[in-house]
Amino acid sequence: MAKKTEQKCDFCGAPASEVRFMLTGINANICDSCAARADQIIKENLQEESKANIDFDLNEIPKPRQIKEHLDQYVIGQDEAKRFMAVSVYNHYKRLLQKNTQDDVEIEKSNIMMVGSTGTGKTLIARTIARMLKVPFAIVDATVLTEAGYVGEDIESLLVRLLQSCDYDTAKAETGIVFIDEIDKIARKSDNPSITRDVSGEGVQQGLLKLLEGAIVNVPPQGGRKHPEQKMISMDTKNILFICGGAFDGIEKRIAQRLNTHTVGYRASRDVEELDKSNLLQYIEPQDLKSFGLIPEIIGRLPVLTYLKPLDKEALRNILTEPKNSIIKQYKKLMEMDGIKFTIEADVYDYIVTKAIEFKLGARGLRTIVEAIMIDAMYDLPSKEEKNFVLTLDYAKNQMENANFSKLRGV
Ligand code: ADP
Repeated sequence: MAKKTEQKCDFCGAPASEVRFMLTGINANICDSCAARADQIIKENLQEESKANIDFDLNEIPKPRQIKEHLDQYVIGQDEAKRFMAVSVYNHYKRLLQKNTQDDVEIEKSNIMMVGSTGTGKTLIARTIARMLKVPFAIVDATVLTEAGYVGEDIESLLVRLLQSCDYDTAKAETGIVFIDEIDKIARKSDNPSITRDVSGEGVQQGLLKLLEGAIVNVPPQGGRKHPEQKMISMDTKNILFICGGAFDGIEKRIAQRLNTHTVGYRASRDVEELDKSNLLQYIEPQDLKSFGLIPEIIGRLPVLTYLKPLDKEALRNILTEPKNSIIKQYKKLMEMDGIKFTIEADVYDYIVTKAIEFKLGARGLRTIVEAIMIDAMYDLPSKEEKNFVLTLDYAKNQMENANFSKLRGV
């Protein structure tokens, strides 16, 4: 028999020595990269076929009231934001279903903008809704786009998480919801003109605008910057609902300015006095976002504008104990698993809340404080005979005094 010639891929002709892996069939060979491409082509075609198939009907979808009730179990207060979110998400479903019908009335997307200081529940609302949904949902951070200047990621990378959340089923991802956190970080810093590249500015916003408007974009499947060797996934963003959240630090000043300048004369100044100065965010209007540095086109594409209230003492107190998986419930459960009964004296709650307000981290500070107070008990109790732990104010204060919070205060 003649000397065996080297196997070649019957699709691209590459010799076995130049490929990583060769699959051999009865009469043909295929190399690993051709097999991978074939797989991709098959998937794309199958998805193309299933594109029109939305596999739910409206009866199965939770109504806005139900969505809000579900949110109420986890998120304290923030009624307005919860209602806006519930309606927008429900309408998003309707919009998807409409794709299956022939009709002249086209329901437009109602992308949402949530404004509220850090730790007031923006991400929590998004995350809680995500868990009850039948469409893919991803939470992404806008800071990756501007981080460390030139190495900021391409805007399309925001869609990678969405693809991952549905196992790279492009057609499904194209009907999903993306929550973009820290959207304020891409605002143009108008009062701080930069001589270097405008990393945190209009360029990124223009890119985002494309996604919000609906465009066919190429997404690098592994995220990051586009590499020529990375095979892109083509995605249509027309039916993706975008929810944006941001703290917009200092926007209250702009709101106050606007309210003052618009109200001239005696009657008007009385109106200003009637304003609730402790929560100016509730008067937010699209023009305030513009003066903060978002381009009008972006604002126009986020027609639902809602706000989150700063959390007052009572809200913080409730957050400690009320939500279905509140911090205190979690600690009780942890102790219970060691057979320990955990009781907290009432004045400890007020102390924790006062400390959280001091740290100015919203509800985010609560967990840090509870952890600092509990660390020693969590360390010692499991090895002790004692099956009762009462958290007193003195104990809590003592623990806090010994904790190193310099890092927290620096935030
Ligand atoms: P942000 O508004 O900065 O996105 P998060 O939603 O991430 O804030 O809140 C941080 C944490 O604080 C949450 O994981 C949750 O434990 C708690 N929290 C914040 N706001 C609320 C709220 N309104 N109700 C219950 N818990 C809250």
